[in-house]
Formats: sequence, C-alpha cells, structure tokens
Amino acid sequence: MALLDKFDMYPELYGQILAHGENPFGVCMDEVVSATRAMINGRETILAGTNNYMGLTFDQSSIDAAKDALDRHGTGTTGSRFANGTYAEHRQLETDLAQFLGLSHCIVFSTGYQANLGAISALAGPEDVILMDADCHACIYDGCKLSGATIVRFRHNSAADLDKRLSRLDPAQKGRLVIVEGMYSMFGDVAPLGELAEAAHRHGAYFYVDEAHSFGSFGPNGRGAAEAQGVLDQVDFYSSTFSKSLSSIGGFCASNHDAFEFVRSTSRPYMFTASMSPANVSSVRAALAQIAAQPHLRDALWRNAERLHAGLSAQGFDLCAAPSPVVAVRMPNKEAAIAGWNALLAAGVYVNLAIPPGTPNAASLLRLSMSAAHTDAEIDAICEAFRNVGQLLADAGAARGGAGQVASQAAAAPAT
Ligand code: PMP
Repeated sequence: MALLDKFDMYPELYGQILAHGENPFGVCMDEVVSATRAMINGRETILAGTNNYMGLTFDQSSIDAAKDALDRHGTGTTGSRFANGTYAEHRQLETDLAQFLGLSHCIVFSTGYQANLGAISALAGPEDVILMDADCHACIYDGCKLSGATIVRFRHNSAADLDKRLSRLDPAQKGRLVIVEGMYSMFGDVAPLGELAEAAHRHGAYFYVDEAHSFGSFGPNGRGAAEAQGVLDQVDFYSSTFSKSLSSIGGFCASNHDAFEFVRSTSRPYMFTASMSPANVSSVRAALAQIAAQPHLRDALWRNAERLHAGLSAQGFDLCAAPSPVVAVRMPNKEAAIAGWNALLAAGVYVNLAIPPGTPNAASLLRLSMSAAHTDAEIDAICEAFRNVGQLLADAGAARGGAGQVASQAAAAPAT
C-alpha cells in the first residue's frame, strides 16, 4: 500500500492550482498556427514561452528536408545508435555540427536530456568528482547521479566559489569535471565562462558547458555563449539540444578530445535507446544551415528581447537578469504567479509558470522566451497583457519590485 502514498498530497496541490483557473502544467495547443501563435481553448494565443528562439519551427527548408527524409528513409530507425540505428545522416549531422563549432568530435543523442545524461555519465565514474553550478538543469543532475561520481555544487555563476571548492579537493582525486550552462533557462542570466574555465583548468579539471539555451542565439556565428565571450577554445565538452534554436528534437555533445569518441561504447543513454528519427535528423541539418546563413535572425531575436525587457521594466516589474532571450518576471509568491499566469492566458498570451520546487532559490516566476519570429506588435501585446498582472498585484497590495535585479545566487532545487 505504501508505494502510492507519496501521491496523496497531489490532489490538494493540484486543487490549489486549479482553483485559480487553468492547469499551467498541461496546456494543450489544439492547433499551432505559426512560430509564435497557437489555438488554446479556442482562442488564438501569442506564444511567449516555447524556446523557439530562432523561430524556425515552420522554416520551409526544414519542413521540406523532413518530408524528403520520411520518403527516403521511413518513419523511424527502430534501433539505437550503437546497434542498428545509425544512418548516414546521423553521421552527417555530427560532421555538420563539429564543423559549425570548429570542434573535431560530435556525438548525436535522441534528446537534449539524453545528451547530458549520456555524455556526463560516460565521462565521469565513481572514482571521479563533478563540480556543478547549483542552478544546473535537472538532466545535468541526473547525468551526475548516473555517473556515480562525487557531486559538489558550487554557488551559481561564482568562479571564486568554484575555485575554493576545487582547492579543497583531495589532490589524489584527479578525475575532475566542472559543469555549467551558457545561459540559464529560468532567469536568462549568462555564465562568466572565461573565469569558470580558468579556475577549472588551473585545478586540473575538464570544463563542460551546456549551451541548450544559447546555441544559435549567442555569439557572432551562433556558436553560443562561449563564442560570444571568446572562450570557445577553453571548452572541453560542449553540449546542446535540437529542441530550441534548431526547432526539432534531439541533442549532442562535442569535443576536441580524441578519447571522447569512446563515449559511444560506454554511454548507456546512447547505447540503449532508439536513435533520432530520419525526419528529425534532416530537419536539424536544414535548420543549422539556416542559422549559419541568416545571422539577421539572431539580430531580430536580440532586438525582440530588448523590446520586451524594456516594456516590462517600464511597468516596474522585477526582472531577473539583463536583456536576453529569456525574460523572467519575479512574482512575490506562488499564488500571485499562478494568478498572473491565468490572467495572461485569458488575455491571449502564453508564458511559462515556474514555481518551487522547480526553480532556483524557490523563486516564483512568469518566464518568457523570445523568438526571432515575434513581431513588434506581438511584443507590445504581451507587454499590454502584463498590465493585468500589474493590476492583480496592485489589488493584492503586493509590490512589483525594482526592475533589472540580478538573479539570486543560491539554489534550492534543480531547474526543470
Ligand atoms: N539542458 C538544458 C539547460 C535545458 O534547459 C534542457 C531542456 N529544457 C535540456 C538540456 C534538455 O533538452 P531537451 O528538452 O531537448 O531534451
């Protein structure tokens, strides 16, 4: 009987959430109309929480490539990369990505989650130590757990804290891996990658960066936050996903270390799950070509991010970071965040609700992600809808807080 007891609290928890209106954790898009719009509850809604940073979900070349792959290679591979699921195009995609990043090795996994799970758990073992930023994504936590390594969390974005924790390690413990993200998905803040890499290397640790939210959108060529900061050559392992800027599904990890190739024969999440479908592989290749050929998409994304950030700042909302493709509005508590989320949906704007325990420092957030495809009119409509949120806070006597506040440093739980 005890097995299911852990779920006893959920009816009440969900009851509290549903008392405010819709279920924020099961929104159904009845029809997706464009990169920035979908029909939700019979209403055309502006999408401001989808990670479609480059706006390529309806890119014609990606759609054509996917259709062609379906015709030529069928619907699925029915096997893992290690066994019968490696097609020439999986290899080709690995070559494309390695060339795009200027790295010599790349391994493609079936999801971004599995890329981190698979790479981290193969790179580190029970005899090693992993030092991870306290705000890292859940799949980085899970990869660390699967590795069996000793896990040490350091303060979010603090090279000084990383340095301190590396100094305290037993000198005999030589297998060391430092893991961080480029841009963090909850607050939209960016890691000081140069300082972190320097601390890692000075203490003999390898440096691993997950650029899931920064690949495509950061750097002069879209190679991520490491490129933007001029430190791509200091990254030992570079992971990312195909589900955001590349508008598909899948993920990869890349490296200049020749030994990295052996991850293919030691990584359980690579060896024991089916590979990406041919249509997904081909659409990613086409989207990558678009990102390389159309730098103006990146410019549009950043212009949009700045317009949204300025519009919400002007209303006095407490924003968690400087302008970036993720703009997070800090709410005073969980209840206000849920009510605000419902008010936005009712006004035709979909954002992400992020509440404890899935957020750093137990923050309650309305999280927005911008797309290169958003129009000025859509961004202005999003800002206009936020007036309802401001009104709710005013009615409850709650402050909106000062705009432009930097994300808090401690973390209570992994981001989702
Ligand atoms: N890394 C980070 C930082 C993420 O935010 C996510 C997903 N949101 C992933 C990895 C996993 O990617 P995917 O959803 O494509 O599996």
